[in-house]
Amino acid sequence: MRTKYLGRTARAAVYIHMDRLLHNLRAMKEILPGKTRILAVLKANGYGHGASAIAHVLENEDAVWGYALATAEEAIALRDAGIRKPLMILGYTWEYAYESLIEREIRMAVFREDTLDQLTAAGARVGRNALVHIAVDTGMSRIGIRPDASGTAFVKKAWAAKGIEVEGLFTHFARADEKDLTSAKEQVSRFEQFAETLRNDGMDIPLVHCDNSAGMLVLSHHTKDLVRAGITMYGLKPSDEIDLHRIDLQPVMEFKSHVVCVKTIPAGTPVSYGGTWVADRPTKIATIPVGYADGYPRSLSGKGEVLIRGKRARIVGRVCMDQMMVDVTEIPDASADDEVTLIGRDGSDGITAEELGEKSGRFNYELVCDISERVPRVVLNS
Ligand SMILES: *Cc1c(COP(=O)(O)O)cnc(C)c1O
Repeated sequence: MRTKYLGRTARAAVYIHMDRLLHNLRAMKEILPGKTRILAVLKANGYGHGASAIAHVLENEDAVWGYALATAEEAIALRDAGIRKPLMILGYTWEYAYESLIEREIRMAVFREDTLDQLTAAGARVGRNALVHIAVDTGMSRIGIRPDASGTAFVKKAWAAKGIEVEGLFTHFARADEKDLTSAKEQVSRFEQFAETLRNDGMDIPLVHCDNSAGMLVLSHHTKDLVRAGITMYGLKPSDEIDLHRIDLQPVMEFKSHVVCVKTIPAGTPVSYGGTWVADRPTKIATIPVGYADGYPRSLSGKGEVLIRGKRARIVGRVCMDQMMVDVTEIPDASADDEVTLIGRDGSDGITAEELGEKSGRFNYELVCDISERVPRVVLNS
């Protein structure tokens, strides 16, 4: 179909279906115990979907306790955009940011002794307590204290520290997205035992959390004050191995563009850099003004497909920085200004982030995170 001129979104745009995000959130809420609230994971600009617009919508949702980010800058940007609910940083945070974070009541993950002393000092300067969630390493070997005597000593120090309020205790699963849940269940049991030891020592930390999206879907256990859900909120799958029959997820993102040039080239004509693909028959080629600088993987050269007029067209030759070519010989009406679906639906067919993730040797999380800033995000149905 010839779509009308769409201004700055004509070249390329990511459409965010906010009604689907809310649908996914309610579907998640339905499978969670009543007391459990959601820590909506909005790191990496909401997995490429646009963190600020999403947070503004989730401000009105009771099921959402707060938002999780990866860095101090991401958290500060949301607070300064007017977001009121709790914000938490999931990774390590450097001292330069402590005062700004304490002033804004932004929670930090802590697991290093030097952080505790630095936070006490920063809290005294600001005149407020620092809110922290202690990270526990139960099997990911990434960040976190060990759930042993050294870990208990750390929590005691944090619990007693002036100017620090221990609000949370959390761990992260390495393998909750696999069919075999043995390892994830071992992590749960180490974590629950550790939390129990702390409680017996008089440290009853208010918010204990371990689930990511996969854990939320497949593990039933009791440490569920909060679930840290990212990928399912965006309607994407944590992995291919997870049974999703309990939940109806709808992909929130569509990635669209428009054809800028259509021409027929004779047999024997090479296409794109390096001439890696040569037409073996007269071929109708459509040029799409999207490339790897938009986050469309170059590894989809010769492999990826797009939808034009509801039909699949294969990428031929190399994906360039800002453009790529597809074979539309089998779509006789294809013409300039036609809508192009890179991710999303057109008619009865659809292309998912999972499909492109798989074909490009990457995966769905990475694919959506990498859609670059120069592609405008357009919010629909909010
Ligand atoms: C990114 C992240 C999550 C969210 O993971 P999903 O699989 O997207 O739900 C949860 N917890 C931590 C610590 C993370 O880093």
